Amino acid sequence: MRDPDSGEELDDALVLWFPAPRSVTGEDVAELHLHGSRAVLAAVMAVLGRRGLRLAEPGEFTRRAFLNDKLDLVQAEAVADLAAAETEAQRRQALRQLDGHLGALYRGWGERLLRLLAHLEAVIDFPDEDLPPELEARVAAETEALAAEIARHLADSHRGERLRDGIAVAIVGPPNAGKSSLLNQLARREAAITSPIAGTTRDVIEVAIDLAGYPAVFADTAGLRDSTDEIEQEGLRRALARAEAAELRLFLFDAQCPGDARGAIQWPGPDTLIVANKMDLLARRDGLPPSAILISALTGKGIPELIATLAGRIAETYDVAAPLLTRARHREALENAANALGRSLGADLPELRAEDLRLAWRSLGRITGRVDVEDLLDVIFRDFCLGK
Ligand code: GDP
Repeated sequence: MRDPDSGEELDDALVLWFPAPRSVTGEDVAELHLHGSRAVLAAVMAVLGRRGLRLAEPGEFTRRAFLNDKLDLVQAEAVADLAAAETEAQRRQALRQLDGHLGALYRGWGERLLRLLAHLEAVIDFPDEDLPPELEARVAAETEALAAEIARHLADSHRGERLRDGIAVAIVGPPNAGKSSLLNQLARREAAITSPIAGTTRDVIEVAIDLAGYPAVFADTAGLRDSTDEIEQEGLRRALARAEAAELRLFLFDAQCPGDARGAIQWPGPDTLIVANKMDLLARRDGLPPSAILISALTGKGIPELIATLAGRIAETYDVAAPLLTRARHREALENAANALGRSLGADLPELRAEDLRLAWRSLGRITGRVDVEDLLDVIFRDFCLGK
């Protein structure tokens, strides 16, 4: 690479030229593969700057790709997720979204909806034509089927969003059971303060951890015990709320006090793992619940097994092949669409039913960012030879 004005050599580089439209943004794109030192970059940038070129704004390439129809909005969001992915599960989910699976699902629904809408519009606009007599009933049946599919997709317990943002795991149990020590073991750094004084963890402390490839957010909660101290009571209230809302709970107790395990009955079910801590101080496991996982937060013994059990539990729930809903923005649009479909099914007049189908279609279109009224006309004129 040379400075075109002075002829001075700038770097020994590789330059790739991608002519439009077969480039990442759909425009002419040149890629410079440089030796990435600050001096090389400064020299090349100075030359490019003289030619009127500038650095891209954040997201500008993806934005241009979207505007040039190279990506839909769902894929553009996946680019951002892929760049921010911290764990294997997040990387896989973002890639699946970038592949277009999720967008294809939403586009497919949009296309079906458009067809229903076109058929209903035909009933309204051309009542005297020879339309199939059962057309209205067919539209209603298919609207119902579509509404049910969207409802199933929505009823996913927010799994895709959790994978994106982190699966909440609450560590609960009596004071001094070793909750903070366990969190430190898991984080392998001093994230929570441990102390031998009961009731020191008064607020909720969170640590994001890559758990065998899954993003988990562990919350160390206040110890569960009766207290008259106002601040401690507030801590306890938050601890209980957090434990309630978490996807998984670790109920931790001191293995020397097997009776404490009874506290776990507050959260029955497979989403609560019972963990007996301080196994280093234990001679025999008498009196411990058979399901209890034995660990020592002090020595680290049993922690790999605990992590494996947790990761296995998470994989059971989150390792699914079907594309999952990943963003609140999509959820909101899908809920709007589902509501509109429900209203359409309840409306008497075909005009009102059509209006709600149109609203549902708009909502779906907003997810991928492709809403076009011309599409509707195309379907009408393709499916019927009205007016010849
Ligand atoms: P928390 O109140 O449940 O968060 O408990 P901490 O993590 O603050 O631990 C309370 C005390 O127990 C501290 O003195 C820890 O060093 C100690 N401790 C925690 N885990 C173990 C363990 O596995 N073995 C032993 N011997 N002591 C532990």
